Amino acid sequence: MKRDLRLATLLTALVCISVVLLTAWQIWTARESTLSDIETDIVNLTNALNTYTEGAFKQSELVLLGLTERIEKDGTGPQQLERLRLLVAQEMNALAQLNSVVLYDAQGNWTFSSEMPALTQTNNADREFFKHHRDNRDRGVFIGPAILSRATGAWVISVSRRIDHPNGDFAGVIAVTISLEHFLKLYRTIHVGQFGAISLTSSDGHLLVRFPFHDEDIGRDLSRAPIFSQHLRSTSSGTVAFASKVDGIHRIYAFKRSDQYPLVTTVALGQSEAMQAWWTQTKQFSAVVALLLGLLVALGRRLISHISRRIGAEKKLRTAQTALIELNHSLEILAREDKLTGLANRRYLDQFLDVEFKRAKRLGSPLSLILVDVDFFKRYNDHYGHLAGDECLRIISQSIQRCVRRPGDMTARYGGEEIAVVMPNTDESGARSVAEAILRSIADERLQHLCSPFGIVTVSLGLATCAPHDSDHNEKTLINRADRALYLAKSQGRNRMSTAPAKEEEELNVAHSTSGR
Ligand code: GH3
Ligand code: MG
Ligand code: MG
Repeated sequence: MKRDLRLATLLTALVCISVVLLTAWQIWTARESTLSDIETDIVNLTNALNTYTEGAFKQSELVLLGLTERIEKDGTGPQQLERLRLLVAQEMNALAQLNSVVLYDAQGNWTFSSEMPALTQTNNADREFFKHHRDNRDRGVFIGPAILSRATGAWVISVSRRIDHPNGDFAGVIAVTISLEHFLKLYRTIHVGQFGAISLTSSDGHLLVRFPFHDEDIGRDLSRAPIFSQHLRSTSSGTVAFASKVDGIHRIYAFKRSDQYPLVTTVALGQSEAMQAWWTQTKQFSAVVALLLGLLVALGRRLISHISRRIGAEKKLRTAQTALIELNHSLEILAREDKLTGLANRRYLDQFLDVEFKRAKRLGSPLSLILVDVDFFKRYNDHYGHLAGDECLRIISQSIQRCVRRPGDMTARYGGEEIAVVMPNTDESGARSVAEAILRSIADERLQHLCSPFGIVTVSLGLATCAPHDSDHNEKTLINRADRALYLAKSQGRNRMSTAPAKEEEELNVAHSTSGR
């Protein structure tokens, strides 16, 4: 039963631990899978935005290429400029991202602008793109930082190309500007949440455009941010998660460097915001598991307390059983024992004699009986009192008991001041030696008896033996013979032992006394 209790406790604990571990594992894998899905989504979005951006710049580059060829071939006379204006107007109509087209001469003065003649003449020799083309023979396009357009007043990114004289000398710059609004219009349609952001940055880490849009963000140097300082050094795309130094919010970033232009597209999502669905699901799932766990623990506790109660009841039952067995045992002893002397009582003597008589007959073995009677015991009581008489009886009983050594023998109180000693498988001579030992032993006690002619307590003994061939004897005749022998001992003067005559002798004595009468 205790094993059952241990098993139930162990099982409940094991199931609870397994449920908790499984739940933790399930929550963890769901988190990993959600994170992986989010990463895949923003990587795809970043790649798509990068393709879009590359397309916008590629179209601007093609426009510049066409215009450069025409200017270098046709020159910039009034007629050519008029034709150029028509062509630019057509291209600007077709390409929504174009904010303006401006042609600068070798000194940076506006030769032509898509906004002219409304605008006054301006010199842009101080602009970065102008300095770049003037100082580099490279004929590739140059993408400038985000600036406020002097032509339109809007935030723009310039894409420019160098124009050469036929001899290769610097003739000026043709530049188109792309409105930041063109990108923001697209970015606004994409849901990145409250803490998300989409940005386009030059590959050296200067911010060109960012959604959500703030004027002060334009041109911000991000070259020290982990994406630029670590990741883009070794790879052109990837994902990374870190807490923003600006607002402390933990974000997941996906970045992609353009293969064609010095541009980097980045999409960021607030991690907690992006994981909100997973978090809600986790809370619901945990609540259900906690409920089940509570039920499981309650059931387990019920089972354990049930087993404990059963163990308690069984323990009580066992204690009661043991008490009952002990009681039975003492009752058994009480039923067999004489209270005063501690010897076997008369009831047990009769049972014992019956059994031993049968056994003696069966085995053909002798059986001896000694009856011991205290001499002048009435006088002892009268002189010393009954309590002293009781004590005297106890001493005599112990003294007799010490003389009866064989395990099969039995000493019992026959009645009053008479004690019987039954000795199975003992012939007359054996019994005689025990009787003599009893006489000696009691004499050795030297119990004072002033009312006896002997001066001490003495006993008389009557001995009878049932020989193996005495087939018609029974326990009653054996007792009678011992009793008669005792009477003989008394009549011969007491403090002695007398033996019952053999059966034939007895019969002879009986016949003689009958004829004498
Ligand atoms: P005898 O020598 O002929 O045996 O004389 P007796 O006085 O011993 O024999 P009698 O039969 O006349 O008296 C026996 C006495 O034993 C009577 C009784 O008071 C006493 N007696 C019997 N049983 C007990 C007992 O349990 N306790 C005490 N104290 N005395 C007992
Ligand atoms: Mg007597
Ligand atoms: Mg007596």
